[in-house]
Amino acid sequence: MYDVNGKQYADLISGIGVSSLGHCHPAVVKAVQEQAAKFMHLMVYGEYIYSPQVQLAALLAKQLPDNLNSVYITNSGTEATEGALKLAKRYTGRTRIVSFKNAYHGSTHGALSVMGSEYFKNAFRPLLPDVQHLEFNNIEDLENISCRTAAVIVETIQGEAGAVVPSVEFLQALRNKCTEMGALLILDEIQCGFGRTGKLFAFEHFGIVPDVLLTAKAMGGGMPIGAFISSSEIMNSLTNNPVLGHITTFGGHPVSCAAALATLTTLAESNLINEVETKEQLFRKYLQHPAIKAIHGKGLLLSVEFENHELLLKIIERCIANGIITDWFLFSDNRMRLAPPLIITAEQIEICSAAIVKSINEAL
Ligand code: PMP
Repeated sequence: MYDVNGKQYADLISGIGVSSLGHCHPAVVKAVQEQAAKFMHLMVYGEYIYSPQVQLAALLAKQLPDNLNSVYITNSGTEATEGALKLAKRYTGRTRIVSFKNAYHGSTHGALSVMGSEYFKNAFRPLLPDVQHLEFNNIEDLENISCRTAAVIVETIQGEAGAVVPSVEFLQALRNKCTEMGALLILDEIQCGFGRTGKLFAFEHFGIVPDVLLTAKAMGGGMPIGAFISSSEIMNSLTNNPVLGHITTFGGHPVSCAAALATLTTLAESNLINEVETKEQLFRKYLQHPAIKAIHGKGLLLSVEFENHELLLKIIERCIANGIITDWFLFSDNRMRLAPPLIITAEQIEICSAAIVKSINEAL
């Protein structure tokens, strides 16, 4: 990134998890230009089928477990959350939604209702009733999931909580409990998906498969797009009583779909996802400083923990002065976000880490 004075910055947060292929990847730019020159909008989504949508849905389904074969494309992450919550209510005939403390699923009313922070919700009540918040990564708390629960919505790896990775046992117990109670398991991979943790989707690390998968952010390679993905059996419940259970004019926009198709194709055909773990290890190797209390997260969804918010603010200020773009997390104000584009090179990781260590020294 360059500012108005031409100063160069390394974007170590990818516009918050969006620019996994960097800014203006040639394959994405080409797809956008070609699609924009063909057509941008013809008909409201669903009435007629656009090729870019079908090709994207087919390629996504090909990369996913068999039950995730029906893709509803939205404009954004929060719209994917809304669609999934409505789908769960409609499919199960139940109303209760379970989510977790420090969860972030978007900013519209439904998504806000399942957000795990009272502070961010208080000014906007009343919100959805019948929402229950459990402790993330606490197996005992899963006893609260019952045959009244329509769905459990959870980030496979919590983003705004500060890149918090749950145990394999926790996610497997959650999967089993949902199956036992007939509740849908919705995995929000809007921030942690699309290759960021070293697999196309983070659930692949945990040996579980969701009933509904949410994706957005990096999916479009910089263009706005999201999706909720499920089985055609579950998804079909949105087609009747009422018909058109979720309506969106621009969801599945052809230009965004073409960009997402180019992004997914580039990821599938390159070695970028396989290199994520090595790149994580490089950051962990180079980011050594007594003021760093811990490095959390997985793959290139990392957080660097400091003593307190005041110190972190000073470090971030120095980082920006030293040409490094970073920030903190909504629900974790003493952790620095590290979510660079997956295309970052080993040499760039070394240079950026040195700039962060220099910034820490200047801030102290
Ligand atoms: N879920 C998660 C895990 C997110 O990180 C975000 C965005 N920060 C959203 C949902 C909402 O996505 P959007 O901003 O595209 O609505």
